[in-house]
Amino acid sequence: MEFSSKLLENAVYEVSQLPGIGKRTALRLVLHLLRQPKDQTNKLSFALQNLRNEIKYCANCHNISDRDICEICANPKRDDSLVCVVEDVRDVMAIENTSQFKGKYHVLGGKISPMDGIGPHDLNIPTLVNKVKSGVVKEVIFALSSTMEGDTTNFYIYKQIEPYNITTSTIARGIAIGDELEYADEITLGRSILNRIPFENSLKSS
Ligand SMILES: [Zn+2]
Repeated sequence: MEFSSKLLENAVYEVSQLPGIGKRTALRLVLHLLRQPKDQTNKLSFALQNLRNEIKYCANCHNISDRDICEICANPKRDDSLVCVVEDVRDVMAIENTSQFKGKYHVLGGKISPMDGIGPHDLNIPTLVNKVKSGVVKEVIFALSSTMEGDTTNFYIYKQIEPYNITTSTIARGIAIGDELEYADEITLGRSILNRIPFENSLKSS
């Protein structure tokens, strides 16, 4: 792509670094911004810079938060003894939308995926094990997507917390194998949390 302006080229390059955005789409977006009032672009860049510089991760559950402890963890009405293990903030949002879960979350920050070079040590697993060790947690619910990576991650964590004799469960699979949690409809996802099954049973059936 030949550009008439270095400024244009740089902007297009940066936008094209986003996932799913090719050079052509990036150019279209950048030209769109140029046609909008300057203020629009300023607001966009300010929001992104603010997000990147100010965002925090909850010290308890690792969810994205504006404070050191997220609103869910800080809520005294939420049940500390019930911990739902999810991959990222999108899963927290999906489960919160169902209004069916009153426990707390633990956000792993990904799944074990040797293909992508992600091992157990890249994930927030030790803090989960510590929570279980502390004796507060009575049940851990696995709510990762049922892909091979999700299953591997569940099993790895299960082995880590098994010695502490707590209940482990997995969300019922109304959700088809390979589906990502965030795409499940609210009613299906809500039901799958209420009708969760003992984790050991999910091992036998697979
Ligand atoms: Zn939290």
